[in-house]
Amino acid sequence: MRVLVTGGAGYIGSHTVVELLLQKQEVVIIDDLSNAKEEVLRRIQTITGKTPIFYRGQVQDEALLTSIFKVHPFDAVIHFAGYKAVGESVEKPLKYFENNLLSTIVLLRVMEQFNVKKLVFSSSATVYGTPTKMPLTEADPIGGTTNPYGATKFMNELIIKDYCVAHPEMAATMLRYFNPIGAHPTGLIGEDPQGIPNNLMPFITQVAIGKRPHLNVFGNDYPTRDGTGIRDYIHVVDLALGHVASLEKMQHAAGYVVYNLGTGKGTSVLELVHAFETANQVSIPLQIQPRRSGDIAENYADCTKSNRELGWVATRTLVDACRDSWKWQSKNPSGYES
Ligand code: UDP
Repeated sequence: MRVLVTGGAGYIGSHTVVELLLQKQEVVIIDDLSNAKEEVLRRIQTITGKTPIFYRGQVQDEALLTSIFKVHPFDAVIHFAGYKAVGESVEKPLKYFENNLLSTIVLLRVMEQFNVKKLVFSSSATVYGTPTKMPLTEADPIGGTTNPYGATKFMNELIIKDYCVAHPEMAATMLRYFNPIGAHPTGLIGEDPQGIPNNLMPFITQVAIGKRPHLNVFGNDYPTRDGTGIRDYIHVVDLALGHVASLEKMQHAAGYVVYNLGTGKGTSVLELVHAFETANQVSIPLQIQPRRSGDIAENYADCTKSNRELGWVATRTLVDACRDSWKWQSKNPSGYES
Protein backbone atom coordinates (compact mmCIF):
# COMPACT_ATOMS: atom_id res chain seq x y z
CA MET A 1 0.00 0.00 0.00
CA ARG A 2 1.15 3.56 -0.69
CA VAL A 3 0.12 5.83 2.16
CA LEU A 4 0.24 9.60 2.51
CA VAL A 5 0.89 10.56 6.14
CA THR A 6 0.17 14.21 6.90
CA GLY A 7 2.01 15.39 9.98
CA GLY A 8 4.19 12.29 9.72
CA ALA A 9 7.16 14.00 11.39
CA GLY A 10 5.23 14.57 14.63
CA TYR A 11 5.05 12.46 17.76
CA ILE A 12 2.29 10.01 16.84
CA GLY A 13 2.88 10.42 13.10
CA SER A 14 6.53 9.37 13.27
CA HIS A 15 5.76 6.26 15.32
CA THR A 16 3.05 5.32 12.84
CA VAL A 17 5.41 5.85 9.89
CA VAL A 18 7.89 3.46 11.55
CA GLU A 19 5.27 0.72 11.94
CA LEU A 20 4.05 1.20 8.35
CA LEU A 21 7.59 0.98 6.97
CA LEU A 22 8.29 -2.12 9.07
CA GLN A 23 5.20 -3.67 7.47
CA LYS A 24 6.65 -2.87 4.02
CA GLN A 25 4.18 -0.14 3.16
CA GLU A 26 5.35 2.81 1.07
CA VAL A 27 5.12 6.06 2.97
CA VAL A 28 5.06 9.67 1.81
CA ILE A 29 5.08 12.37 4.49
CA ILE A 30 3.84 15.94 4.23
CA ASP A 31 4.70 18.06 7.25
CA ASP A 32 5.34 21.80 7.60
CA LEU A 33 7.75 21.15 10.52
CA SER A 34 5.88 23.78 12.58
CA ASN A 35 6.08 21.39 15.54
CA ALA A 36 8.58 18.77 14.35
CA LYS A 37 12.20 18.46 13.28
CA GLU A 38 13.66 17.07 10.07
CA GLU A 39 16.03 14.99 12.20
CA VAL A 40 13.11 12.63 12.86
CA LEU A 41 13.41 11.41 9.25
CA ARG A 42 17.00 10.27 9.82
CA ARG A 43 15.92 8.52 13.03
CA ILE A 44 13.12 6.73 11.16
CA GLN A 45 15.72 5.61 8.62
CA THR A 46 17.96 4.28 11.42
CA ILE A 47 15.10 2.26 12.94
CA THR A 48 13.61 0.87 9.75
CA GLY A 49 16.43 1.01 7.18
CA LYS A 50 14.05 2.93 4.94
CA THR A 51 13.63 6.61 4.22
CA PRO A 52 10.13 7.91 3.78
CA ILE A 53 9.62 10.39 0.95
CA PHE A 54 9.22 13.81 2.53
CA TYR A 55 7.55 17.03 1.40
CA ARG A 56 7.79 20.11 3.58
CA GLY A 57 4.62 22.14 3.39
CA GLN A 58 1.07 22.67 4.57
CA VAL A 59 -1.78 20.32 3.74
CA GLN A 60 -4.00 23.30 2.86
CA ASP A 61 -1.52 24.33 0.16
CA GLU A 62 -3.72 22.87 -2.56
CA ALA A 63 -1.18 23.36 -5.35
CA LEU A 64 1.48 21.50 -3.39
CA LEU A 65 -0.89 18.73 -2.32
CA THR A 66 -2.12 18.29 -5.89
CA SER A 67 1.44 18.04 -7.17
CA ILE A 68 2.17 15.33 -4.57
CA PHE A 69 -0.94 13.30 -5.50
CA LYS A 70 0.06 13.61 -9.19
CA VAL A 71 3.38 11.90 -8.50
CA HIS A 72 2.23 9.26 -5.99
CA PRO A 73 -0.86 7.11 -6.60
CA PHE A 74 -1.96 6.80 -2.98
CA ASP A 75 -4.15 4.00 -1.70
CA ALA A 76 -4.87 5.75 1.60
CA VAL A 77 -4.21 8.83 3.68
CA ILE A 78 -3.60 9.15 7.43
CA HIS A 79 -4.27 12.74 8.49
CA PHE A 80 -2.32 13.73 11.61
CA ALA A 81 -1.33 17.28 10.65
CA GLY A 82 -2.83 19.86 12.98
CA TYR A 83 -2.13 22.24 15.81
CA LYS A 84 -2.66 20.62 19.21
CA ALA A 85 -1.87 22.96 22.07
CA VAL A 86 -5.06 23.39 24.10
CA GLY A 87 -3.95 26.61 25.84
CA GLU A 88 -2.72 28.25 22.66
CA SER A 89 -5.98 27.37 20.94
CA VAL A 90 -7.87 29.40 23.54
CA GLU A 91 -5.58 32.39 22.87
CA LYS A 92 -5.58 32.01 19.08
CA PRO A 93 -8.83 30.32 18.05
CA LEU A 94 -8.71 31.47 14.42
CA LYS A 95 -5.24 30.00 13.96
CA TYR A 96 -6.65 26.63 15.08
CA PHE A 97 -9.89 26.74 13.12
CA GLU A 98 -8.15 27.91 9.95
CA ASN A 99 -5.33 25.40 10.03
CA ASN A 100 -7.08 22.34 11.42
CA LEU A 101 -10.28 22.64 9.38
CA LEU A 102 -8.94 23.98 6.09
CA SER A 103 -6.36 21.21 5.89
CA THR A 104 -9.09 18.56 6.10
CA ILE A 105 -11.28 20.29 3.52
CA VAL A 106 -8.43 20.69 1.04
CA LEU A 107 -7.27 17.14 1.69
CA LEU A 108 -10.73 15.70 0.97
CA ARG A 109 -11.00 17.81 -2.19
CA VAL A 110 -7.66 16.58 -3.52
CA MET A 111 -8.41 12.98 -2.49
CA GLU A 112 -11.65 13.22 -4.44
CA GLN A 113 -9.88 14.60 -7.49
CA PHE A 114 -7.45 11.67 -7.46
CA ASN A 115 -10.02 9.05 -6.51
CA VAL A 116 -8.40 8.17 -3.17
CA LYS A 117 -11.07 6.65 -0.95
CA LYS A 118 -9.43 5.68 2.33
CA LEU A 119 -8.86 8.15 5.13
CA VAL A 120 -7.80 7.67 8.74
CA PHE A 121 -8.28 10.76 10.89
CA SER A 122 -6.34 11.52 14.03
CA SER A 123 -9.15 12.38 16.43
CA SER A 124 -9.19 12.60 20.18
CA ALA A 125 -11.12 11.66 23.28
CA THR A 126 -11.52 15.42 23.67
CA VAL A 127 -14.54 15.16 21.31
CA TYR A 128 -16.53 13.67 24.23
CA GLY A 129 -16.41 17.09 25.94
CA THR A 130 -17.35 16.79 29.59
CA PRO A 131 -18.63 13.23 29.83
CA THR A 132 -21.18 12.15 32.40
CA LYS A 133 -20.21 8.47 32.57
CA MET A 134 -17.13 6.29 32.32
CA PRO A 135 -15.77 4.38 30.50
CA LEU A 136 -16.42 6.14 27.20
CA THR A 137 -17.81 4.18 24.28
CA GLU A 138 -17.93 5.36 20.69
CA ALA A 139 -21.73 5.61 21.03
CA ASP A 140 -21.48 8.24 23.76
CA PRO A 141 -22.48 11.79 22.83
CA ILE A 142 -19.84 14.06 21.34
CA GLY A 143 -19.56 17.86 21.19
CA GLY A 144 -19.65 20.22 24.14
CA THR A 145 -15.90 20.61 23.68
CA THR A 146 -14.25 23.03 26.05
CA ASN A 147 -11.60 24.70 23.86
CA PRO A 148 -10.99 25.50 20.15
CA TYR A 149 -8.51 22.63 19.74
CA GLY A 150 -11.17 20.16 20.89
CA ALA A 151 -13.77 21.89 18.73
CA THR A 152 -11.59 21.38 15.64
CA LYS A 153 -11.37 17.63 16.34
CA PHE A 154 -15.16 17.47 16.73
CA MET A 155 -15.80 19.62 13.64
CA ASN A 156 -13.35 17.61 11.54
CA GLU A 157 -15.25 14.46 12.44
CA LEU A 158 -18.47 16.14 11.28
CA ILE A 159 -16.89 17.32 8.03
CA ILE A 160 -15.60 13.84 7.24
CA LYS A 161 -18.87 12.20 8.27
CA ASP A 162 -20.92 14.45 5.99
CA TYR A 163 -18.43 13.90 3.20
CA CYS A 164 -18.94 10.16 3.60
CA VAL A 165 -22.72 10.58 3.37
CA ALA A 166 -22.23 12.20 -0.03
CA HIS A 167 -19.59 9.62 -1.03
CA PRO A 168 -20.75 6.21 0.18
CA GLU A 169 -17.77 4.53 -1.47
CA MET A 170 -15.45 6.30 1.00
CA ALA A 171 -13.86 4.43 3.91
CA ALA A 172 -13.11 6.88 6.72
CA THR A 173 -11.95 5.90 10.19
CA MET A 174 -11.90 8.31 13.12
CA LEU A 175 -9.41 7.20 15.76
CA ARG A 176 -10.14 8.84 19.10
CA TYR A 177 -6.92 8.75 21.05
CA PHE A 178 -6.83 8.78 24.81
CA ASN A 179 -3.50 9.87 26.37
CA PRO A 180 -0.48 8.79 24.30
CA ILE A 181 2.77 8.40 26.24
CA GLY A 182 6.01 6.48 25.78
CA ALA A 183 8.40 6.43 22.88
CA HIS A 184 9.96 3.98 20.47
CA PRO A 185 11.84 1.33 22.51
CA THR A 186 15.08 2.28 20.69
CA GLY A 187 14.88 5.73 22.28
CA LEU A 188 15.47 7.23 18.81
CA ILE A 189 12.09 8.90 18.38
CA GLY A 190 9.72 10.33 20.95
CA GLU A 191 7.73 13.35 22.04
CA ASP A 192 9.63 16.61 21.60
CA PRO A 193 7.53 19.46 22.96
CA GLN A 194 8.56 23.05 22.32
CA GLY A 195 8.87 25.14 25.49
CA ILE A 196 7.08 24.15 28.67
CA PRO A 197 5.29 20.83 28.16
CA ASN A 198 1.51 20.93 28.52
CA ASN A 199 1.15 17.20 28.96
CA LEU A 200 1.98 15.16 32.01
CA MET A 201 4.56 12.62 30.77
CA PRO A 202 6.92 15.07 29.00
CA PHE A 203 6.76 17.25 32.11
CA ILE A 204 7.70 14.27 34.30
CA THR A 205 10.66 13.37 32.05
CA GLN A 206 11.89 16.98 32.10
CA VAL A 207 11.77 16.96 35.89
CA ALA A 208 13.65 13.65 35.88
CA ILE A 209 16.40 15.10 33.69
CA GLY A 210 16.71 18.19 35.87
CA LYS A 211 15.26 20.69 33.41
CA ARG A 212 12.42 21.55 35.79
CA PRO A 213 12.59 21.54 39.57
CA HIS A 214 9.32 19.74 40.30
CA LEU A 215 6.08 18.51 38.82
CA ASN A 216 2.98 20.58 39.43
CA VAL A 217 0.09 18.27 40.18
CA PHE A 218 -3.04 20.07 39.08
CA GLY A 219 -5.53 19.26 41.82
CA ASN A 220 -5.68 16.56 44.51
CA ASP A 221 -9.30 17.11 45.44
CA TYR A 222 -11.01 15.31 42.57
CA PRO A 223 -13.50 12.58 43.47
CA THR A 224 -10.97 9.87 42.49
CA ARG A 225 -9.13 7.22 44.55
CA ASP A 226 -6.21 9.53 45.43
CA GLY A 227 -7.76 12.89 44.52
CA THR A 228 -5.70 13.39 41.33
CA GLY A 229 -7.00 13.22 37.77
CA ILE A 230 -7.42 9.85 36.09
CA ARG A 231 -6.56 9.27 32.42
CA ASP A 232 -6.12 6.35 30.05
CA TYR A 233 -2.42 6.36 29.11
CA ILE A 234 -1.64 4.40 25.97
CA HIS A 235 1.84 3.55 24.69
CA VAL A 236 2.47 5.44 21.44
CA VAL A 237 3.64 2.25 19.67
CA ASP A 238 0.29 0.58 20.50
CA LEU A 239 -1.42 3.69 19.17
CA ALA A 240 0.66 3.54 15.97
CA LEU A 241 -0.30 -0.13 15.53
CA GLY A 242 -3.97 0.90 15.85
CA HIS A 243 -3.50 2.93 12.66
CA VAL A 244 -1.97 -0.02 10.84
CA ALA A 245 -4.88 -2.23 11.95
CA SER A 246 -7.38 0.42 10.77
CA LEU A 247 -5.81 0.59 7.33
CA GLU A 248 -5.99 -3.17 7.05
CA LYS A 249 -9.64 -3.21 8.06
CA MET A 250 -10.42 -0.52 5.48
CA GLN A 251 -9.21 -2.81 2.67
CA HIS A 252 -12.46 -4.70 3.05
CA ALA A 253 -15.02 -2.21 4.35
CA ALA A 254 -16.30 1.17 3.20
CA GLY A 255 -18.15 3.71 5.34
CA TYR A 256 -17.57 6.04 8.27
CA VAL A 257 -16.42 4.37 11.48
CA VAL A 258 -15.15 5.53 14.85
CA TYR A 259 -12.82 3.76 17.28
CA ASN A 260 -11.49 4.58 20.71
CA LEU A 261 -7.79 3.85 21.04
CA GLY A 262 -6.89 3.43 24.69
CA THR A 263 -6.11 0.72 27.20
CA GLY A 264 -9.43 0.75 29.03
CA LYS A 265 -7.57 1.35 32.29
CA GLY A 266 -7.54 4.58 34.27
CA THR A 267 -4.35 5.76 35.98
CA SER A 268 -4.10 8.74 38.33
CA VAL A 269 -1.41 11.42 38.16
CA LEU A 270 0.19 10.07 41.35
CA GLU A 271 0.04 6.48 40.08
CA LEU A 272 1.82 7.50 36.87
CA VAL A 273 4.48 9.38 38.83
CA HIS A 274 5.06 6.36 41.08
CA ALA A 275 5.21 3.98 38.13
CA PHE A 276 7.81 6.25 36.51
CA GLU A 277 9.87 6.45 39.70
CA THR A 278 9.82 2.68 40.17
CA ALA A 279 10.50 1.80 36.53
CA ASN A 280 13.43 4.19 36.22
CA GLN A 281 14.80 4.48 39.76
CA VAL A 282 14.54 8.27 39.72
CA SER A 283 12.63 10.56 42.02
CA ILE A 284 10.11 13.14 40.87
CA PRO A 285 9.58 15.95 43.37
CA LEU A 286 6.05 17.31 43.17
CA GLN A 287 3.95 20.22 44.36
CA ILE A 288 0.19 20.12 44.62
CA GLN A 289 -1.38 23.05 42.76
CA PRO A 290 -4.98 24.12 42.19
CA ARG A 291 -6.97 22.33 39.51
CA ARG A 292 -6.17 23.31 35.90
CA SER A 293 -9.13 24.99 34.27
CA GLY A 294 -11.03 22.80 31.80
CA ASP A 295 -9.73 19.54 33.32
CA ILE A 296 -12.12 16.71 34.17
CA ALA A 297 -11.73 14.24 37.03
CA GLU A 298 -11.47 11.10 34.97
CA ASN A 299 -11.36 9.99 31.38
CA TYR A 300 -10.84 6.45 30.15
CA ALA A 301 -11.92 4.35 27.24
CA ASP A 302 -14.09 1.37 26.62
CA CYS A 303 -12.06 -0.28 23.84
CA THR A 304 -14.36 -3.24 23.24
CA LYS A 305 -15.23 -2.05 19.74
CA SER A 306 -11.67 -1.42 18.53
CA ASN A 307 -10.45 -4.67 20.13
CA ARG A 308 -13.19 -6.66 18.45
CA GLU A 309 -13.45 -5.01 15.04
CA LEU A 310 -9.81 -4.10 14.45
CA GLY A 311 -8.36 -7.20 16.07
CA TRP A 312 -6.15 -4.74 17.93
CA VAL A 313 -5.36 -4.41 21.58
CA ALA A 314 -2.94 -2.21 23.50
CA THR A 315 -0.43 -4.68 24.94
CA ARG A 316 2.31 -2.42 26.27
CA THR A 317 2.19 -1.68 29.99
CA LEU A 318 2.47 1.53 31.94
CA VAL A 319 5.94 0.39 33.01
CA ASP A 320 6.95 -0.12 29.35
CA ALA A 321 5.76 3.39 28.57
CA CYS A 322 7.57 4.92 31.58
CA ARG A 323 10.78 3.10 30.65
CA ASP A 324 10.58 4.11 26.97
CA SER A 325 9.72 7.76 27.72
CA TRP A 326 12.73 7.95 30.01
CA LYS A 327 15.02 6.23 27.50
CA TRP A 328 14.03 8.78 24.85
CA GLN A 329 14.42 11.74 27.20
CA SER A 330 17.73 10.62 28.71
CA LYS A 331 19.25 9.80 25.29
CA ASN A 332 17.97 13.11 23.89
CA PRO A 333 17.96 15.66 26.73
CA SER A 334 17.03 18.45 24.32
CA GLY A 335 14.87 16.34 22.01
CA TYR A 336 15.89 16.19 18.35
CA GLU A 337 18.28 19.10 18.87
CA SER A 338 20.43 17.03 21.23
N1 UDP B 1 -1.31 17.15 34.83
C1 UDP B 1 -0.62 17.56 35.97
N2 UDP B 1 0.52 18.29 35.80
C2 UDP B 1 1.01 18.62 34.57
C3 UDP B 1 0.29 18.20 33.42
C4 UDP B 1 -0.87 17.47 33.60
O1 UDP B 1 -1.01 17.29 37.10
O2 UDP B 1 2.05 19.31 34.48
C5 UDP B 1 -2.52 16.32 35.01
C6 UDP B 1 -3.79 16.89 34.40
O3 UDP B 1 -4.44 17.73 35.32
C7 UDP B 1 -4.56 15.62 34.05
C8 UDP B 1 -3.47 14.62 33.68
O4 UDP B 1 -2.28 15.11 34.30
O5 UDP B 1 -5.23 15.12 35.20
C9 UDP B 1 -3.23 14.48 32.19
O6 UDP B 1 -3.01 15.76 31.64
P1 UDP B 1 -2.52 15.96 30.14
O7 UDP B 1 -2.40 17.43 29.88
O8 UDP B 1 -1.29 15.13 29.89
O9 UDP B 1 -3.67 15.31 29.26
P2 UDP B 1 -5.25 15.71 29.15
O10 UDP B 1 -5.56 16.73 30.15
O11 UDP B 1 -5.39 16.18 27.77
O12 UDP B 1 -5.97 14.44 29.40
